[in-house]
Amino acid sequence: MMLDTATLRVALALVDLTLLMLFYFITFRRTRSAYSAWWCMALLLFLAGNALYLLDGTVHQLWANPSGNVLLVAGAASIWAGGRSLRAPSPRPWQLAAGPAATAVASALDHPATNVWSGGPVYLGFMALLIGMGSREMFLLERDYSRVHRPLAVGAGILAVFYAGRLVAFLADGQNGAVFTTVFGSAPMTAFSTITLVVASFTMAELSYEQQTRDLRDRATVDGLTGLLNRAAFLDLAENELRQLRRSGTAASIVLADLDHFKAINDQFGHAAGDSALQAFARACTGTVRSTDLVGRYGGEEFILLLPGVTPERAQEIAADISLRLQQSEAEGIPRLPTVSYGIASTGAGAGGLDAAVASADAALYQAKTLGRDRAELAGGATK
Ligand code: GH3
Ligand code: MG
Ligand code: MG
Repeated sequence: MMLDTATLRVALALVDLTLLMLFYFITFRRTRSAYSAWWCMALLLFLAGNALYLLDGTVHQLWANPSGNVLLVAGAASIWAGGRSLRAPSPRPWQLAAGPAATAVASALDHPATNVWSGGPVYLGFMALLIGMGSREMFLLERDYSRVHRPLAVGAGILAVFYAGRLVAFLADGQNGAVFTTVFGSAPMTAFSTITLVVASFTMAELSYEQQTRDLRDRATVDGLTGLLNRAAFLDLAENELRQLRRSGTAASIVLADLDHFKAINDQFGHAAGDSALQAFARACTGTVRSTDLVGRYGGEEFILLLPGVTPERAQEIAADISLRLQQSEAEGIPRLPTVSYGIASTGAGAGGLDAAVASADAALYQAKTLGRDRAELAGGATK
């Protein structure tokens, strides 16, 4: 059976239009993610580009074919931008425009009135390149970013290889060659594109939801100013961690930290300077402790750490290291960073649960303040 290209194109256009509507109204409007916006853009450009190809063989071919090429390459650039938006800033406008612009020039100069494949190699080359770059962006995401980005990356990779194959066949075989017209011709390509659009839209909808869920989760658990865990998230994770530690009979230290005379920093240098001091302290904490320790912003200029397997005495040394690192760091708008007082308690046997340990650490912190600040005191050991 010989597939009729024009019929396939109409079918592709209908599928594309349906997907665009569904994707725009269901996924994009709900998630508003950069990724789904780029995919809507890609669907729209593919729809317009393929519609123009329907004028192939008519008097309008002169402008329709080059414009179709340009729109499809712009669609491929949107795929790249969409993939990139998941892990990096958007490409610059000129980077997005380069492929379509080069395709426009090549197609316009290549006798588009008589040559159905005007600008063919440039068009095919950019399709392969840009879709390949989109695939690469998705491969570069962490493995556990989502459940669907790897299959999507493979799918885009196959499509890029397919376009590269078309390019090679075109160059080696010519646009009327047997390989180019049968394996890589417009009919199989249109059928293949239809399948690809459906599969990609389905997986991208899933990806957009995962991205939105991740955003919501981050906003609910991360402190906006410092990037540390917020109070609720810290306590949640700490409870979990302590449950596991109890099972293995390991104790942990809870450290409460409070910046000294912090109000004076705000008063003297302004609220923004105070904010940057808080950020500097957060960096000093995360830069000092292990990645398995938990660090949270307990509220205002108070911070909390859970150090599993660490004795209170060792925690005291760690607190000193954090203070040292803070003093060695810089924060915008402040000549000198504040000192810090710490209260330390153990979660070990007889110490009760997390709440009890935090309360003990708080009492020790109060001791540290009364004893002159810039020090770390151990719970129940202030008199030791
Ligand atoms: P002490 O040594 O006894 O802890 O004195 P202090 O001035 O640090 O403590 P106090 O509780 O009197 O003041 C805390 C200040 O922290 C007051 C509040 O305006 C400021 N603060 C709380 N949250 C933020 C914040 O997010 N940004 C800034 N810039 N300041 C904050
Ligand atoms: Mg305080
Ligand atoms: Mg304070």
